[in-house]
Amino acid sequence: MRQRNLTQAKTSLNPSLTLSLQPPAHRWHCFSVVVPHDLVEAVANFLLELGSTGIVEGERDFLQPLSSTTNVQGFFPIAVSGPTIYSALTQYLHELSTLFPGLGHPVPYLTEVTSDAWSEQWRNHFPPIHVGSRFLVLPPWEPVPSQIDRIVIVINPSMAFGTGHHATTQGCLEAIEFLCATYGPPGRALDLGTGSGILAIALAKFGTRVWATDIDPIALEEARKNIEVNQVTPLIHLTEVSLEDPPAPFPLVVANLFAATLATLAPRLESAVKSNGYLTLSGIQLDQEADVRAAYSSSRWSLMQRYTQEEWVTLIFQRS
Ligand code: SAH
Repeated sequence: MRQRNLTQAKTSLNPSLTLSLQPPAHRWHCFSVVVPHDLVEAVANFLLELGSTGIVEGERDFLQPLSSTTNVQGFFPIAVSGPTIYSALTQYLHELSTLFPGLGHPVPYLTEVTSDAWSEQWRNHFPPIHVGSRFLVLPPWEPVPSQIDRIVIVINPSMAFGTGHHATTQGCLEAIEFLCATYGPPGRALDLGTGSGILAIALAKFGTRVWATDIDPIALEEARKNIEVNQVTPLIHLTEVSLEDPPAPFPLVVANLFAATLATLAPRLESAVKSNGYLTLSGIQLDQEADVRAAYSSSRWSLMQRYTQEEWVTLIFQRS
């Protein structure tokens, strides 16, 4: 099942919400249990192994320590035996609590929900969102406003990261807005780690030709669909090809990755960005910023802009 991939993909950067849609059924069992953040994945995986057709993890507050708790919900078709699942889950939690005393003794709750309620609950996580002063990011079920002076980006929330709701994506969109407004849209750009394709789509809507890469084939497939919906397919070259093999240095590179990956990639990004070109880095938590900046401290790079949102920071460098 793809839910497992989905869990991994989502948690790679933003573990706040995991989801999946299955063909509609009328009624579902919903098992709900509150566990420490660091055990969410274990419990979610266990529910998937039991046959859950969808998992919803509650919002995680990154400002709270890992030991803080999150609600995990697992949905099962009503035809399966609720008590059997309940007792397997209770037994699993009991075993887990002997390994992880911090778990305490959480008690799962079993309720019944309709598919409409579930899908409504899921959709409520993705309202339309204004980013910066230029972008409106919408899921496909929302109508596009007829009178709008913003660039509309339609993203289907799925297994790829990048719905537009995360501070790191928003930081990159603001950086793109700033660079395009200040210097004009670049002719070409590299979107390293495209995820849902959101940054590549934003750039393509400015007329930039984008080379968009990802190491995750599922992300590439989701990006392809979003790019098509946004009607920018001719401008975006999607590829799994790694950074060792980009065509030529770019006037702009955007990379919303893990801080440690950004630090490791510094030498390669130096060759991927053209002289006088720009590099936008995100995915950096405030306490990781010093390490990333140290990796980009050569005289080749000058820091031009720095955006913070929540505990995340986005950096724009210019290369000499
Ligand atoms: N650009 C999107 C998604 C960022 S999530 C946004 O800003 O919202 C990071 C993505 O980078 C994931 O899809 C992940 O699979 C991909 N990724 C991680 N390491 C990578 C690497 N070394 N090269 C290319 N893609 C990478």
